[in-house]
Amino acid sequence: MMTSPIVVSCILVTVASAATAWLYHKKLSRQYNKLKQSRESLDFALQSGRMGTWDINLETDTVSCSKEMLELWGINPEDYHGQRSILQNKVHPDDLGRMRSSIDSSIKHESIYELEYRIFPSPGLQRWVLSRGRCTYESHSRRPIRFSGIICDITDRKIREEELDRAMKARDQFFQIAGHELKTPLTCLQLQLQVNQWDLQNAYPDAFTPEKIEANLLKQQQHLNRITRLIDHILDEATISEKRFFMQFEKFNLNDMVKDVLEQFRVTAQAASVEVILISSENVEGTWDRFRLEQVLLNLLMNAIRYGNKSPISVKLSKDNGNVLLSVQDRGIGIKPKDQTRIFERFERVSDEDDTRGIGLGLFISKNIVLAHNGEIRVHSEMGKGSEFTVILPIHPETNQ
Ligand code: ADP
Repeated sequence: MMTSPIVVSCILVTVASAATAWLYHKKLSRQYNKLKQSRESLDFALQSGRMGTWDINLETDTVSCSKEMLELWGINPEDYHGQRSILQNKVHPDDLGRMRSSIDSSIKHESIYELEYRIFPSPGLQRWVLSRGRCTYESHSRRPIRFSGIICDITDRKIREEELDRAMKARDQFFQIAGHELKTPLTCLQLQLQVNQWDLQNAYPDAFTPEKIEANLLKQQQHLNRITRLIDHILDEATISEKRFFMQFEKFNLNDMVKDVLEQFRVTAQAASVEVILISSENVEGTWDRFRLEQVLLNLLMNAIRYGNKSPISVKLSKDNGNVLLSVQDRGIGIKPKDQTRIFERFERVSDEDDTRGIGLGLFISKNIVLAHNGEIRVHSEMGKGSEFTVILPIHPETNQ
């Protein structure tokens, strides 16, 4: 039986169509696999870079977000159905205005949108994010249709930037204050020398009584002490920074050292009209760096005068479990709980009042001296009630030297 040409053509067309469909199917599945692979790579890149994607449909005002973005924002994907308000409610109120105007401006000027802002994924948790995106427009009318982009977590970078910024500001402030601190006693010394010279030239007899000379010498000594202390602090800071902070350990009685320091300090305390009381003390023999511990005690005493509102200063020395505890207590302005850690960092100062100015190095140096003895320094303070600084030292430290 002969097959008609029509039937043959039909068979050929069917075979050809099937082959085309098969090839098309192959091509599609290759494309699908490629797309799947790119999606997986994108997911991996997004996860590695702690990034997410977002896409605002400007017609419906809904936002599709990747699961990474929802995770970053602390949103459960099951509770999220594109509501823009859910996202906006998590943006820091101070940043919301900036965010809206940046998006508007990017849409208007057909430019890239880029903004760093803060979000609250959960109550009390703040994150910094960087968002970048751009608008898609209808080709003829240039009507904005979608606004989409990526978002990533930059909290760690922001924290480092803030720390660096604070350190730079503290250093700038340090130079200003150090200049001021050096200039004040130098100007006073200069003035006093001029007055002495004038008295001498004019043979002014009253200026040279033993009492006047003694009072003058005391003042000059105080100005010189202030300058020396400042220079010592600056030099110590440099040796700590460069890890060249050498200690000389020797065996001595801490009780003797405390009494010697208080004796040295008597004149300064009298000049400031402050009473210093050694409440209790014990004979404790140990191995420490005598000069450095004197420095710590003097720093604490100076601070107790500066910030003590002329209240009496109590000093205590006691033994406890192989350690020795040395404390200096005032009843002055006190330190806020939030500042009680940072005051031990370099250049950190809390008070801004002119008459209590320091350069923010005393406690930093003291902490490093105590650490080099394998000890610790603690503060207990209440605003308006005063502060107590306690140095805890092992009696025979295995030193860090
Ligand atoms: P400074 O030279 O500025 O006194 P310190 O490192 O000794 O530097 O102290 C750092 C800061 O800690 C001070 O600026 C001050 O704000 C605070 N401070 C230190 N001691 C006391 C204290 N006894 N009472 C209140 N504040 C204190």
